Amino acid sequence: MAAYRGRLAPTPTGLMHVGHARTFALAARRTEAAGGSLIMRIEDLDGSRCRPEFSEAALEDLHWLGLNWQEGPDAGGPHAPYVQSRRLPWFAEVWRRLHASGTIYPCDKSRKDVERALSAPHAEDDAEPIFPASLRPASDAGRDAFDPGSTNWRFRVPDGKVIGFMDAIRGAQRFTAGTDFGDFLVWRKDGMPAYELAVVADDHAMGVTEVVRGADLLLSTARQLLLFEALGWPPPAWAHAPLVTDLFGRRLAKRASGLSIRELRDRGFSPADVLSADLSQLSP
Ligand code: GLU
Repeated sequence: MAAYRGRLAPTPTGLMHVGHARTFALAARRTEAAGGSLIMRIEDLDGSRCRPEFSEAALEDLHWLGLNWQEGPDAGGPHAPYVQSRRLPWFAEVWRRLHASGTIYPCDKSRKDVERALSAPHAEDDAEPIFPASLRPASDAGRDAFDPGSTNWRFRVPDGKVIGFMDAIRGAQRFTAGTDFGDFLVWRKDGMPAYELAVVADDHAMGVTEVVRGADLLLSTARQLLLFEALGWPPPAWAHAPLVTDLFGRRLAKRASGLSIRELRDRGFSPADVLSADLSQLSP
């Protein structure tokens, strides 16, 4: 069996939140327990929201919490992180491979078009609406493209296909393509890969054997398994950590409260408290 390789993959759009930090600590513990190596990967592809100062703050916060990564770099020292914005040629190569597999198509539909095509408004404001099959183009659309150009590209999901996987924390999982999620973005019209493509491309390239991340990404795992299959790559194992919630069971998302590591540090919490104390009563 391949040696265990885990990863920490922060997105530097703000100060690191306690929920993310706990997930990262779990990733580090699982790597250590398996005697494996851990890589650091900064997921900074959303240029309008990511900031270098948040990357630096994330690395510093994680060091303060006692986490260490053994391996990273495209450049610069054994502890330097991989940085996704420096890896665009690799993502373009993965776009080409997906294009060659005939599973993706160019899509000029806006979110408004999608909402108009759906008969009922979708339940949760946050949840991405399921892309309706009626908005798909002909099956050969985009076949003669040489590059993504300035349009979105979507993966055509095999409707009705059940995607099952074993989660190390939550047990057996099952999702149905076309019902639980629809055709999803793999490339954005601003010339950047979409999250699902970039993560699969890098988890493969970096030899990640287990992905540890928040349970909010379970559906993404189902999507990503379809990408691994289309690319002919073996998928990693999965462990989805429970999300940290407040007194009312609401998710402590970055946007909703001020529970950043910085703030907890300033309030005098120790790394051990940040990683394990019950913070549900804490006011933001
Ligand atoms: N970068 C994502 C985040 O910070 C995590 C992506 C992943 O673990 O696949 O939420």
